[in-house]
Amino acid sequence: MKGMGPIPPGFDVSQQGRLAIGGYDCEELVAEARGTPLFVYDNNLVGAKIARFRHCMPAGVLLHYAVKANPYPPLLEWLCRYVDGFDVASVGELLALEKAGADVVAVSFAGPGKSNNELKVAIKDGATIHLESEGEARRALDIAGQLGKRPRLSVRVNPPFALKGAGMKMGGYASQFGVDHDRVPDLVRGIIDAGAEWRGLHLFAGSQCLDWTAIAETYRQALQLAGDISDAVGVHPTEVNLGGGLGIPYFEGDEEVDLDCLGRALGDQLADGPPALATTQIIVELGRWLVGEAGVYLTRIVDRTTSRGKTFLVTDGGLHHMLAASGNFGQLLRRNFPVAIASRFGEAATEEASIVGCLCTPLDMLADEVALPNADVGDLVAIFCAGAYGLSASPQAFLNQAHAQEMLI
Ligand SMILES: *Cc1c(COP(=O)(O)O)cnc(C)c1O
Repeated sequence: MKGMGPIPPGFDVSQQGRLAIGGYDCEELVAEARGTPLFVYDNNLVGAKIARFRHCMPAGVLLHYAVKANPYPPLLEWLCRYVDGFDVASVGELLALEKAGADVVAVSFAGPGKSNNELKVAIKDGATIHLESEGEARRALDIAGQLGKRPRLSVRVNPPFALKGAGMKMGGYASQFGVDHDRVPDLVRGIIDAGAEWRGLHLFAGSQCLDWTAIAETYRQALQLAGDISDAVGVHPTEVNLGGGLGIPYFEGDEEVDLDCLGRALGDQLADGPPALATTQIIVELGRWLVGEAGVYLTRIVDRTTSRGKTFLVTDGGLHHMLAASGNFGQLLRRNFPVAIASRFGEAATEEASIVGCLCTPLDMLADEVALPNADVGDLVAIFCAGAYGLSASPQAFLNQAHAQEMLI
């Protein structure tokens, strides 16, 4: 028997003894979507996260949503009303936001390899471009000149530190993300001299961290560095974006980030922060933490088989929709996401089984040797923590299997 991560809060047993998502019986949701595999996102759970952020974080800290975590259009449309801005990483995401009716002025565009066309669209729209290199700065200024428009530019800093305890570290090493911190003051001066609107700095040091002390320490270092850079430039930045990186519990033993403590620590840091940042707007841009636990992937069992004493529940889904649960999305060691037999959510575990997908590869393992109630062909499986880096971060075209549906409730 192997463990699994904790099922996130907010899910109930329906009157029929099945998983209820947002109060709806899972089979009713599947019927409405006309079948599995299906991702269901519960906007009330996202709303609860936003409310928690507002409650715990210091007043005035802005909350942005990192679109790449989940770009499902109805979710973006819903989020427009509740977050202060968005972070995009491609022109496709920018256009998705425009379609959703977002105010693109509060959009920041980060990420390496922005094409000239992407820079052009972003400048036309008035989005803030987070420059990843000096070359990108030159291209953005040239394109803005051609357009006759004053661009909003921020500089992404490759800091000399990384977020400790993060699942994915960014910063503290040579990378294509951002400009090495010691070259940033010169670049900022160049941007200002060229007549652009210099918005500020962007520091993103890592993703999927559960340790609030490590996140707080990274915030402290980021604010210090942003203050030093601003002093060197001699201009106060309008905004400093501290990035994302708050994790969610995926695996056995994981515990949620203590947001009360993190919020208090950030409040203390800002109260006692660098003078250059006294009037600077602080932004936190979250993806995973906001939407990850609000999503459930539902897939139906199409076969039950045994091999060398092990039971396999074979589903109509797989890693082509939910790569992260298979352990193939940046994990070193495969561990189990929280899973359940959704159609028997009220029942106790009676056997050990492995849940696999329908792809022709042994990598397509969704849960290995977990304790479950006896399930058979026709039962529904739920994979939790599927709201972020789920469908859009999976190789859906692999093996030409059926596409997954998505639904916001
Ligand atoms: C991916 C990304 C985020 C969001 O990261 P999470 O770990 O999902 O919160 C924030 N900012 C930038 C620039 C990103 O690339």
